Amino acid sequence: MNENSILRGIPKVDEIISLLGETDAPKAVVREAVREVLKGIRESILRGERTKVPETESILKMAVQEMQKKEKMSLRPVINATGIILHTNLGRAKMGETVVRAVMQAAANFSTLEYDIEKGSRGSRYTHVEKLMVDLSGAEAAMVVNNNAAALMLALNTLAQDKKEVMISRGELIEIGDSFRIPEIIKASGSVLAEVGTTNKTHLFDYENAVGEETAALLRAHTSNYRVVGFTESPPLKELVSLGRKHGIPVVYDIGSGTFENLEKYGIYGEPTVRQSLADGADIVCFSGDKLLGGPQAGVAVGKKKYIDLMKKNQLTRALRPGKMTLAALEATLRIYLEGTAERDIPTVRMIADNMGILRAKAAALAGMIREKKADCAVETVEETSQIGGGSMPGQALPTVAVALRPNHIPVMELESRLRLGGTPIIARICRDRLLLDVRTLEESEFPVIAACVAQCAGGSADG
Ligand SMILES: *Cc1c(COP(=O)(O)O)cnc(C)c1O
Repeated sequence: MNENSILRGIPKVDEIISLLGETDAPKAVVREAVREVLKGIRESILRGERTKVPETESILKMAVQEMQKKEKMSLRPVINATGIILHTNLGRAKMGETVVRAVMQAAANFSTLEYDIEKGSRGSRYTHVEKLMVDLSGAEAAMVVNNNAAALMLALNTLAQDKKEVMISRGELIEIGDSFRIPEIIKASGSVLAEVGTTNKTHLFDYENAVGEETAALLRAHTSNYRVVGFTESPPLKELVSLGRKHGIPVVYDIGSGTFENLEKYGIYGEPTVRQSLADGADIVCFSGDKLLGGPQAGVAVGKKKYIDLMKKNQLTRALRPGKMTLAALEATLRIYLEGTAERDIPTVRMIADNMGILRAKAAALAGMIREKKADCAVETVEETSQIGGGSMPGQALPTVAVALRPNHIPVMELESRLRLGGTPIIARICRDRLLLDVRTLEESEFPVIAACVAQCAGGSADG
């Protein structure tokens, strides 16, 4: 049979729609789905991949699957089995119950967003978190914008717009994932980059020799996602601050991840804390809300009241302001820190804090459930390492435990993609021909779903 006569056997769109009968999906979605399925069949016949039109029964099945795919939210939950706690592509920090409740309250109700209950008049959206942020950090003042990139941009625009100079070491001209680049941010802020020193060594005298009339800010950026090691040097923040004081130039410190706690107790070194950065004299410290802080996407600037006030008055602030759901989440997050229950109530902190004992027990439980389901694969638990991610702590990995799966009859890549494309996408990584489910980023409540999906996906042959 030639292609044309095969193609003539493809049913009409309306024929399939009427065979489908009543569906929950809107008519337009049904039509679109059927059209796409038939188009797919036509194309695969033309490419020679099919030599006959599938049975009507299986066309109907394909149409239903296509409809379900279209009906799903594009932004939807996934199960993160990568072990990467702050996975930029998977939405960075995940929030705990208390915080989620606060977000729902803000979303579902009218609120005090810009209303002062006591006075019965207009209030400011910034008051809800400022006091908490000040209490936690020891700063004079604080403000919140959409993300850390915005916070830094606003700080530099406020201090150095109209082509004044922002001075920074060549060792700190960082790029953070998805096009945050310090030189571009400086340019976009309306100021001019003045780089000093070298990639590996910058001395205080490099700054000293270069400061002049035009210098409006000294910028320090935490090299969140890489480390220069070996023959290196950069002056301590305190020395940079003394230099700034001597010349009347403010020091801005972009610390990236905003941690309030010293993370060394969890085996994480080299992350500046908000409080220490301020204690060392930085005039403005800015950081993200959804990295190690474990809150919503937001950018926070804390520091001297005089500068924060100027930032608040900057016209750009109106363009960078956070929404009520963000503010609710941030307020709830900060309250948890003040109560001292971060390890229990902030998932990011909890995942960092989980020790090998806890992780071994979790992995054993998950492996047991998968075995119980008689999944068609070899199941074992292995000790591995996980990254924190989100551009936090390069080269530092936490020891972890993973459940390693080796399917008996299909390639491991096939198992990876089936789990990823399933009803609840499970995102995992392949290492040495095994699929690893790192339990650090998994909740025990997700185990039954994972075990069921693995049992369903691991069987069969490679071509389904
Ligand atoms: C992550 C990071 C940023 C960008 O923060 P966003 O909240 O993603 O905008 C800026 N500076 C440093 C040092 C960072 O680590």
